[in-house]
Amino acid sequence: MDSQIHKIHQQLVSKDISCTALIQEKLDLLKPNKHHTVNSLLDTLALDLASKVDAKIANGESIGLLEGIPFGIKDVYMVQGTYTTASSNLLKHYKSAYTATAIQKLLDAGAIPVVKENCDSFGHGSSSENTIFGAVKNAIDPNLVGGGSSGGSAVNVAKDYTVFSIGGDTGGSVRQPAGYNKVYGLKPTYGRISRYGLMAYASSTDCVGPIAKSLEDIRIVLNVMSGKDIKDQTSYDSKPIFESNISNTENIKTIGYFKNFIESDAIDDQVKADFLTAIEKIKAKGMQVKALDFFESETLVSTYYTLAMAETASNLSRLDGTNYGNRIEAENLKETYAVTRSENFSEETKRRIVGGNQVLSQGFADEIYLKALAIRDQISANFENDFKEVDIILSPVTPNTPPKIGDSLKDPLAMYLSDAYTVGFSLGQLPTLTLPQGTTTGLQITGAKTNDELVLKFANFLKNIL
Ligand code: GLN
Repeated sequence: MDSQIHKIHQQLVSKDISCTALIQEKLDLLKPNKHHTVNSLLDTLALDLASKVDAKIANGESIGLLEGIPFGIKDVYMVQGTYTTASSNLLKHYKSAYTATAIQKLLDAGAIPVVKENCDSFGHGSSSENTIFGAVKNAIDPNLVGGGSSGGSAVNVAKDYTVFSIGGDTGGSVRQPAGYNKVYGLKPTYGRISRYGLMAYASSTDCVGPIAKSLEDIRIVLNVMSGKDIKDQTSYDSKPIFESNISNTENIKTIGYFKNFIESDAIDDQVKADFLTAIEKIKAKGMQVKALDFFESETLVSTYYTLAMAETASNLSRLDGTNYGNRIEAENLKETYAVTRSENFSEETKRRIVGGNQVLSQGFADEIYLKALAIRDQISANFENDFKEVDIILSPVTPNTPPKIGDSLKDPLAMYLSDAYTVGFSLGQLPTLTLPQGTTTGLQITGAKTNDELVLKFANFLKNIL
C-alpha cells in the first residue's frame, strides 16, 4: 500500500477533490459506527478546518503535505473543547481544557481531526472491550475483537474511516491492534514524542504512536510529532527520518529473535510456522539470523503488570470527582470519593487500582514493586547486550490470533498473557513497529533505543521480501 497522505495531497492540490468533500466522506463513513470505533465525532471542527483549506487552495496558496488530511485520535488525548472520556463513565462528560503536544503539532501542520476513538478504558486492556461505548469490532472479522487498547484507532485506519490515527502504547496498545487489523503501528522510543496531554496510564512506558496503512505515512506523521517538549521532561530531541535514509539496508547485517518466544507452548502453530518462514526468507537475502535467550513470558508479563498497575493506581488517584469526573455525592467527603470511584470505574480498572495499591503498600513494596523494578533493569541490560550482537530483533506481535468478542472478559489472566511479546519492549523503552505481514497478526521489528530510523529501514526491506 502506497502513501495515502501523498495521494490525497496531490488530489487536493490538483483540485480533483475538495477538502470539505473529503472530510464529509470520512464523517459519513464514521457516523453509522458499525464497528463501535467512535466515541465522539468532531464534525463541526473538522468541517470548519476543511473550508479553510479549500479557501487557501481556491486562492492559489500552497498547502503543506498534511494540510487537510483527516485523522483519528484515541479518546485519551486532550484536544481543547472536545470530550475526552478515556472510554470511562468517570470522564463521560469531561471536556479537555488544553491540547496534547503531539496533537497540537499535527493541527499546526494542518491535519484535520475527525473523531475521538473508542479504546479500553484508560488504556486498560488488550481487546477494546473494557469501554462504555461497546466492544470494538475487528475490521476483518466483526465477530472478533478489535484488539486493544487502541482498537478503535486501528479499526478506523483498516476500514479507511481515517487516513491515520494516533493511538497510545503502554504495553502493546498500538502494536497489537495494528496486528489484529493488518495495518502498521509504531511505538517509538520512549520520549521521542511528548506525552503531554496523553492521559497517564503507566508514565514510565506510555508512548504516543501512529497507526497507518503505509510505512511512508507512519514516517511522515512520526516526524511531525517528534521532538523535545518542555512540558514533558522525559522527551528528547531527534533528527527527522528522511525517506532516502530508509530505502537501503546498509547497517543491517544481523537479525535476532527470541528462541523462547517461538518454542513456547502458548504460541499458535500457524503463527510459529509463518514466523519461521519469514526468518528463512531473511536468511535467503544474505542476512545473518541469531537465536537469542530472553526472559520467560510469565516473568515479562508479571513484571509489566506489577509496574503498570502501581503506576496507574497512582495516576488515577486524582480522579475522585473533585477536579474531574462524575461526582456522586454521599454522606461525607470520604464516602463521596469511594462511591464516585467505585461506581464510575470499570471492573478491569478497579482490579488494576486495587492490585497497584497492594504492590505499593508497606510490607509488600519491597517484595513486589522493588523486585519488579530490579527485573526491569535486568531486562534493559539484556537488551543492551543483545544490540551489541544484532541490529534488529524480530518477533511475532502476539502468540495467538484475535479472540472472539466476549472471551477476554471471562478470563483476564489469559488476556494479560496475550501481551507476552509486546510488554518486554515497552519495559525496555525501545522503538518497535508492527509490520502487517509475515504472520496473521504481523511481525514486530525492534531496534536499540533511539534507533527508530533503523526499525523503519528494516520494515521497508522486509515488506518487499515477505
Ligand atoms: N494490554 C496492555 C495492558 O492492558 C497494554 C495496554 C496499553 O498499552 N495501553 O496494560
